[in-house]
Amino acid sequence: MKVIAVNAGSSSLKFQLLDMPKEIVLASGVIERIGLKDSIFSIKFNDDPHKEIKQIETPKDAVNLLLERLVSLGVVQDLEEIDVVGHRVVHGGEKFSDSVIIDDEVMKAIKDVSDLAPLHNPANLTGIKAFNEALPHAPGVAVFDTAFHQTMGPVEYMYSVPYEWYKKYGVRKYGFHGTSHKYVSLRAAELLGKKPEDTKVIVCHIGNGASLCAVKGGKSIDTSMGFTPLAGIAMGTRSGDIDPAIVQYIADKENKHLDEVIEELNTKSGYLGLSGLSSDSRDLWDAVARGDKKSILAVEKQAKMIADYIGAYYLALEGCDAICFTAGIGENASETRKLIVDRLGALNINLDVERNLARGTETLVSTKDSSVKVYSIPTNEEVMIARDAQRLLKK
Ligand code: AMP
Repeated sequence: MKVIAVNAGSSSLKFQLLDMPKEIVLASGVIERIGLKDSIFSIKFNDDPHKEIKQIETPKDAVNLLLERLVSLGVVQDLEEIDVVGHRVVHGGEKFSDSVIIDDEVMKAIKDVSDLAPLHNPANLTGIKAFNEALPHAPGVAVFDTAFHQTMGPVEYMYSVPYEWYKKYGVRKYGFHGTSHKYVSLRAAELLGKKPEDTKVIVCHIGNGASLCAVKGGKSIDTSMGFTPLAGIAMGTRSGDIDPAIVQYIADKENKHLDEVIEELNTKSGYLGLSGLSSDSRDLWDAVARGDKKSILAVEKQAKMIADYIGAYYLALEGCDAICFTAGIGENASETRKLIVDRLGALNINLDVERNLARGTETLVSTKDSSVKVYSIPTNEEVMIARDAQRLLKK
């Protein structure tokens, strides 16, 4: 069975075509800068990268170009070979605790929660419609970033605010990166040689966006992002948790609207805000090597926030079998893993300096006598999307 896993953003479309159940990647790539004159179409097939720069006006044009190239490059002989399209959808609200085959009702439900993810859900819907038109024979499956966290209990997902905010407007913790947290926690169980039901794992997804998840028996019991992805730990450009009163205070001082301040918390904070240099971890570590004080503060602040969450989740899980680092920084930045784990000494969790040099590989990075195993595990959201698409299609 051939599954195309798709992540449609407002100006980009990431894709991976997989042969299932073998989980072999047949082709992967991205279309960027959709709507601009110099859109970029990149595809990797047979280890051969292919890149084109041309105007791609709409998401529909992007989908049509992608499908046309899959045939002309010989990735597939005929588009009929594509059995199902798996779509990453950011927000499923409280309605979806699992992936689902897309029909009109599901499309409406995704639209209905667009208020909660105004930048993402409409773009995801546009992608769904474009594939429905271009591949009418292939059903679509929606895989939600929020679904994995629907197992949280009310003590974890409720905020301590007027209860009507939840009842009237859905104000609660939803959590994100669920597909990644699920994949990594399942891999951790395999590496531990245990069933997911018998494991307790803390997943640290640290990329440009970043969140932690406490996974007990294969289920999310708590996560660091909240009502929106702004909450939790400091990220590339997001602040993570702050005192909410700061928002009004800065709006008054700088004569700004509240939404402008929130925008700055989303796009000008985190690594970028504290360092004043960059949102990219590699730039920051270069600056740290030069002794740049603000960059040192930025990476240390994030490490402290992550270590604090790990401590909280260690208590919530009543101990754990593994702490897993994933995503761009978690998989690659040995320096960040070291900063974090160095703060966990009170729990007797220790890093093996040599093993921790691992970059982008599945590696046990803790010492033999560490009380908890620490892993670097590259995430694979596409394979999770493809697995769900295959499972639902078989049903
Ligand atoms: P993601 O959002 O998962 O793509 O992660 C993006 C982040 O990962 C950026 O801050 C990158 O600098 C960081 N990253 C990617 N590769 C490396 C690397 N080899 N070393 C350190 N950071 C990396």
